[in-house]
This record gives sequence, structure tokens and C-alpha cells, in this order.
Amino acid sequence: MTKIRTRFAPSPTGRMHVGNLRTALYAYLIAKHEGGDFILRIEDTDQERYVEGAVDIIYRTLEKTGLKHDEGPDKDGGVGPYVQSERQAQGIYLEYAKQLVEKGEAYYCFCDKDRLATLTRTVAGKEINVYDKHCLQLSREEVEAKLAAGVPYVIRQNNPTEGTTTFHDEIYGDITVDNAELDDMILIKSDGYPTYNFANVVDDHLMGITHVVRGNEYLSSSPKYNRLYEAFGWEVPVYVHCPLITDEEHHKLSKRCGHSSYEDLVEQGFLTEAIVNFVALLGWSPENNEEIFSLEELTTEFDYRHMSKSPAVFDYTKLKWMNGEYIKAMDFDRFYGLAEPYLKKALTRDVNLKKIAEMVKTRIETFPEIEEMVDFFETLPEYDAAMYTHKKMKTNTESSLEVLTELLPILEAQEDYSNDALYQTLVAYVEKKGCKNGYVMWPVRTAVSGKQMTPAGATEIMEVLGKEESLARIRVGIEKLKDA
Ligand code: GLU
Repeated sequence: MTKIRTRFAPSPTGRMHVGNLRTALYAYLIAKHEGGDFILRIEDTDQERYVEGAVDIIYRTLEKTGLKHDEGPDKDGGVGPYVQSERQAQGIYLEYAKQLVEKGEAYYCFCDKDRLATLTRTVAGKEINVYDKHCLQLSREEVEAKLAAGVPYVIRQNNPTEGTTTFHDEIYGDITVDNAELDDMILIKSDGYPTYNFANVVDDHLMGITHVVRGNEYLSSSPKYNRLYEAFGWEVPVYVHCPLITDEEHHKLSKRCGHSSYEDLVEQGFLTEAIVNFVALLGWSPENNEEIFSLEELTTEFDYRHMSKSPAVFDYTKLKWMNGEYIKAMDFDRFYGLAEPYLKKALTRDVNLKKIAEMVKTRIETFPEIEEMVDFFETLPEYDAAMYTHKKMKTNTESSLEVLTELLPILEAQEDYSNDALYQTLVAYVEKKGCKNGYVMWPVRTAVSGKQMTPAGATEIMEVLGKEESLARIRVGIEKLKDA
């Protein structure tokens, strides 16, 4: 059996789109699942779409996500160069296009824009532009004369106009198209660069790629790629086209939704391991219903035969849940390292940040949530006396005023402001009063936090605030309740 070789072939056009990251991940997993090689190739032949810095983004993303390539521009495996513009400079594509011209499988075309514009036809209500093979009629001498005179040209694939072409995709099955639909697509553009359509076939062959993994937007062009393999007499690779990714409204995931790239997600506070895990499930599911997978586990479990062809919905809520699971499972030191900048942004007072970090660890789904969750430690927020009324706790403004007023001297007298000691004090008071815990805890927590939801109970909050600040807040509460 030949060793599996897959490739990730991004175009450096900007941020790493989630769809591209998934392609990279699946290509990586398909190779690694069977001990194969994962190759990185930079497809920069579309000069108009090239974005400065985008190549760095590609390297950085692969490194951060752990998708280590075995070969690439920075790791020669003997089939380089691994950058298409460098391959173009070596004349590789032109050489192979000329081979096809010799075989009658391609031809020079000198038609100008104006003529091409007249070739638009309406088929089934859709406007299409199919080349009419006009230049195929030119004799060898005519072609040579034009080339010698420097007339701009492209090289086109010479596709049959009759019969059908069938190819097999591992996910979508057998696909057959009428050859009449196959346009004579351009292989070499007038600027001398190959089109993606041509370069990908030549490179995949020369690089020994056995499994071509890519987005399903390339599915409709695959018959033409297949024809190219056949024209060269090359073995056709295994095709694995990944399903479309949509947003929750079932539109193609685009920049507009604000979380379409890996970088967007990182900026929104998602962990790389959670992103990778989430992206793995956009189009693939394991046989059991498990959802949490490390990259190593994915490598073992992933089987492209279980990929789905139905569009995968990018469920942001699920991603948040997943990120929360990773945060919960993370060891505390790493968590603290990641949480500290957010804690420091929200809190300038001298409080025990580690204690606060412990409180929020199990409660957040993304790190930026920390700020809003802890800001009450910095300053007591404005709040309404109505917050003291809680139906289930059976509290209202009157009962709360009574509880806080009775507790104030007790808490003033207390020296030990540790959580345990404070808790004992409050429970002793509850027992003496013969009420439920909540009847006391609710007003105390409201007074010291000014919030309905807090990451910890009353006494834990007081421990962090310290005696002076806790008492000051309880006094504010009493005044507020008196006015209510
Ligand atoms: N350069 C193409 C892109 O970025 C890659 C397509 C493929 O994987 O074949 O979309």
C-alpha cells in the first residue's frame, strides 16, 4: 500500500477562514490516521487576491493548532518548491501545458476580451460563458506566427463536447456530467500564471498527493480536473470534498457573521483546542456521541468515511459550551495565566486575584466574560432595593433591612474574615432566628455585591473584599433599604 499523502493548499488571501481550517484539519487527520504525510503548499498564483502577511497567518495558525506539516516551503521533502509562484518561475506549469498542447488536449487561444464577451449564452435561465473553440481551428503555423508576433494568449483545455465524464468523490459518491457543460477552461493565463484549476492538478500529481481534501465549492470543477488527469495519463487521486459550513440562518459562513475566521474566534476568547475540536465536528461525527476530542484523539478516531455531505451549521452556542468545558478541565495554573489579564483589567484594588479566579473558572465559557463577572469587587454597582426581594428565599425589603441591621454589629465585632469563619457566624445567626439559610444569605450577598448573579456566595465574596469594604457595603444596603 502506498503511503497516504494529503496537502493543505491555502491561498494567502487574509485571515484563516474556519472552512480552510477545517480543510487543513481533515487533510491532516486523514494522513495522520494512517501514518501518512501532510504537506503544505502555498497557492499564490492569483496575484490580485494576494494579501501581504497572509502567509505568516497560515504558518502561525498551523503551528498554534498543532497541525504540523511534514513538508512545505520551510521543510523540503524533495518535491518542492512548495510555493506556486516559485514553481511558476521555474516554468513548470507552462511546460506541462505545452505537453497537453502537443497531445491535442489543450490549445492556444488568442481571443480578446471583446470577442469573449459575445460568447455569453443563457442556459436554463442562467447566463454562462462557454468558449466556442474558435482558436482550436488555427493551424500550427498560424499559432506560431501569432506567438512570434507577441500576440497575448492563454492556453485552454480541449474538452470533448459529447459524452459524459464521471468521477468519484468519497463523500458525494459518483458524479456524472455532460461533457457539453465542460467549458474549455483556461490553464495558463495571459500573465503567464497558471489558473488554480490547472496548477492544483499538476502540483498534486508532482507532489504525489494521494487524497485531495478540499471544500465542496470545487466539486463542480472536479470533472475538468479529472479530464486533465486523464489527458496526462496520470492516476486520479482520492477526492474528499468537505460539506458547506453555514451560519445559524443557513447562509454560507461569511465574514459578515463576525466569527468566520480562526483569528476572530481567538479574539473572542476561544481556546485553540476548543476551536479545533469544534471545527472537527463540522461535517464529521464519531460513532459514539462523544464530543470532546483532543487532536491526538481525533487522529485515532477520525475516519473520512463517516463524513457527512449535508451542510454543517456553525453553532456558536455549542462552541461556547465546548470552550467552557475546556476551561473547566484546564489545570489552575494555566487558567490563571490566561485569566489574569482580564482580572487585572477589571480590578485595580488589592484583592486576592487567585481566589477570584477560582470562583470564575467553572462559570465562564470565554475569558472576556470575566471582566463583567468580577467588576463588582472593584466598586459596588448602583442597584435597586427591589433586588432584595426574592420570592423563593422569602425575602423582601423589610426582612432584609431587619437581617442586615441585626447582623451589622455582629460583623463589626468579628475579626476573622475568612470564608469559613464568616459562614459559621451567618449560620449561627440563621439558627438563632429559626429561618432558612437563603433568608439571610440573599440580603447579605446582595448588599456586598449589588448584583443578582455572582460567581460565589456571600461569605466568599466578603473574604475577598475584607472587613472594611464588606461593612461599608452592608451599611450602604441598610441606608438603601431604609429609603425603600
Ligand atoms: N488554494 C485553494 C483555496 O485556498 C485550495 C483549494 C484546494 O484545496 O484544492 O481555496
